[in-house]
Amino acid sequence: AAATTTAATLPPPPPPPHFVLVPFVAQGHIIPLVDLARLLAERGARASVVTTPLNVARLRGVAEQAARAGLPFELVELPFPPPGSGLPDDCQNADMVADNYQFLPFFFALPDLAGPFEAYVRALAPRPSCIIADWCNPWTAGVAKSLGIPRLFFHGPSCFFSLCDLQAANHGLHERIAAGGDEDQHAVPGVPVPVTVTKATAPGFLNHPATEVLRDEAMEAMRTADGVVVNTFLDLEAQFVACYEAALGTPVWVVGPLSLCNRDVESTASRSKTAAAGRQQVITAWLDEQAPGSVVFVSFGSITRKLPRQLLEVGHGLEYSGRPFIWVVKEPEAAAPEVREWLEALEARTAGRGLVVRGWAPQLAVLSHRAVGGFVTHCGWNSLLESIAHGVPVVTWPHFADQFLNEQLAVSVLGVGVPVGVTAPVMIFDDDTVAVPREDVVRAVSALMGGGAEADGRRRKAKEYAEKARRAMEKGGSSYENLTQLIESFRQSGGKEG
Ligand code: UDP
Repeated sequence: AAATTTAATLPPPPPPPHFVLVPFVAQGHIIPLVDLARLLAERGARASVVTTPLNVARLRGVAEQAARAGLPFELVELPFPPPGSGLPDDCQNADMVADNYQFLPFFFALPDLAGPFEAYVRALAPRPSCIIADWCNPWTAGVAKSLGIPRLFFHGPSCFFSLCDLQAANHGLHERIAAGGDEDQHAVPGVPVPVTVTKATAPGFLNHPATEVLRDEAMEAMRTADGVVVNTFLDLEAQFVACYEAALGTPVWVVGPLSLCNRDVESTASRSKTAAAGRQQVITAWLDEQAPGSVVFVSFGSITRKLPRQLLEVGHGLEYSGRPFIWVVKEPEAAAPEVREWLEALEARTAGRGLVVRGWAPQLAVLSHRAVGGFVTHCGWNSLLESIAHGVPVVTWPHFADQFLNEQLAVSVLGVGVPVGVTAPVMIFDDDTVAVPREDVVRAVSALMGGGAEADGRRRKAKEYAEKARRAMEKGGSSYENLTQLIESFRQSGGKEG
């Protein structure tokens, strides 16, 4: 009886901390935050990912897997696009924005998610412990503030970029750049390694003047947040993490590489948008036939689109490089019949040596295959970090946003990259310049995949970082322990009644 009395008088255990994650609606943002949500759920917290119906549908595979594993992981659907936005119903992800005419309405419709988001959070009892919102979702700041919920922001790029971006803003670099000439080189102050940028390669957003408003709002939301979560690891970026934390004045939680939470074939395949049925098996079977480290993987993320003239230069470059390759071509890039025919002819000429994947590819499965020895990347941070985490050196071909500074990190600081040689961004749509002729593709791929001390050095460094990345995510590793601390710090603060 005494035991029964004691049990009855014990207070119930506190609920696990509840994290509500709000990714920006683009693959490069949804993928790492969903990985983070799954990790939080695996480690004893509750995780809810808030997004729009199209993205919820794309993530169904992830949710089903989490449910089978009994993880407290859920997807929460908010209505979008708002009535009157003029956007087509399926324009719910940056990769569904068709052209320049949809670009601004899409960006300016996103803050309308604030109302439904606030209603969702208000209805939760107890209130969530913490909101982790993408840097590109500054509209979450007002909701968190009005409900008194701590808010961290998730910054997608490398810590090196985020530091340069912050210091550029803190030290008036953008004003100096605007007053100078196009070719002027500007040092970025307050960064522990020498970094120079031009007007074209300065920390930027999306090369669209109108998005500068969003950039200012994001900066403000960043300054008022309770901390930041970054997808990197200390052995890769310790000096920039320390500087960033000092410059921000709030905690920086370094918890990556998040992609390493995908430990089996099913989760690597269905991280977000699932590749066409059977595609992963076809690619894996093809890779199994190739010699270890011989294949170059070529893919430019989820948003960039090449118009035919530039696309064909890539194809010719891969053909003339003589190396085995897997090249990912997006559906809109291959829409024109003459492009489709050209690709088929290229495949015929390079049969057995080249594989052209049309549409979404299982990138993580490719990068983790032992046959892959190099990656031609646009330097989106997820792609670059996924490559490093699998010990694969890169050819760097930045297009916009953080990618030029990520390139500097890969080439000059980490020593794992060969630049293809671009010096200016491409506009996000309808840019018909040929920034990279086939000769440059051949030169860079040959340097990456060939022999010699420099190439060997890049391969060795990439392998060393991969080993350190793996250790960072294991029990006792820096990212693993940082995640523990993150969860624990919100166990204390969370659980207020709604
Ligand atoms: N990705 C993929 N298959 C594709 C294209 C992209 O799995 O065909 C994934 C890639 O692994 C990465 C993300 O999409 O996780 C792209 O993010 P990144 O930051 O590299 O570039 P962005 O798409 O934001 O430009």
